[in-house]
Amino acid sequence: MLNLQSAIIESLHLKELNEKNIQADVLRLDRIHHVISGNKWFKLKYYLEEAVGKKHTSVLTFGGAYSNHIIATAFAAKMCGLKSIGIIRGEEPKVLSHTLTDAKNYGMQIEFISRDEYKTKTEEFFLNELRKKIPDCYIIPEGGEGLLGVKGSSEILDAVKQNDYSHILCAIGTGTMFAGIVNASSAHQKIIGFPILKGIKNLSTEVHQYINSEKESCIEINNDYHFGGYAKKNDELIKFMNSFYQQTKISSDFVYTGKLFYGMIDLLQKNHFASGSKLLIIHSGGLQGNSSLAEGTLLFN
Ligand SMILES: *Cc1c(COP(=O)(O)O)cnc(C)c1O
Repeated sequence: MLNLQSAIIESLHLKELNEKNIQADVLRLDRIHHVISGNKWFKLKYYLEEAVGKKHTSVLTFGGAYSNHIIATAFAAKMCGLKSIGIIRGEEPKVLSHTLTDAKNYGMQIEFISRDEYKTKTEEFFLNELRKKIPDCYIIPEGGEGLLGVKGSSEILDAVKQNDYSHILCAIGTGTMFAGIVNASSAHQKIIGFPILKGIKNLSTEVHQYINSEKESCIEINNDYHFGGYAKKNDELIKFMNSFYQQTKISSDFVYTGKLFYGMIDLLQKNHFASGSKLLIIHSGGLQGNSSLAEGTLLFN
């Protein structure tokens, strides 16, 4: 269904890398599909498989107005012959975001709920009410988190000869992708996660329970590059993303991968990686989120 072969490995050619004798490759998950970009396919696949297997006719999930997960679910559900319902955080705006407009065009039914109600979205009472309203729907947790999301994410490294790498770097939202990558890694590797939320020092207990205990020592969490928190940005980040694009021709998004690449370059400059290190950086997609920026902010889109 998706062209996973197109998730190519691209080597970065940067002066700083040469000078420090470090190799860095980028796994371009942003290339696997024009809509279901990046890690979202991996996080969704086992949920969709279960929904189809259990003969549900629709899937329901949750997200914000710019959510990569919402748009990926809309498209992937359609591809699997399922209807989709997106429960969106916050009041209905006068003008729908680019993301929600596209999701609707892919057939998703969009429903807004208040921020307070949204907070109860994992509670049994709330979920049961939804199941009563839409009896046949299969509920996918927000962002595809949970056991099946971790399982799917553990297949991200299948496309690479991962044993070559001393470090694997990725962004952390819920930490689902990170947990899958940690589980699939080898004992000698460090998996560095960059939370894009403020003040995250450890994985949440929900995600942590899915990590194989013998892989604990692989984990490194670096919370220095959140730029103030979820979807927060400043001129420095935007300037970096533009200059990174000029140097590498790699587009990044301001919510996740821009912060990841920024963190990677900063750690490199601070000699975090020993000479001879070989880094794999996961480009987890999400470029559609840039459409919320004013035109002309980025040199790419
Ligand atoms: C959703 C997303 C992430 C975060 O994935 P988690 O599994 O929630 O940590 C990272 N990068 C991009 C581009 C995403 O869309």
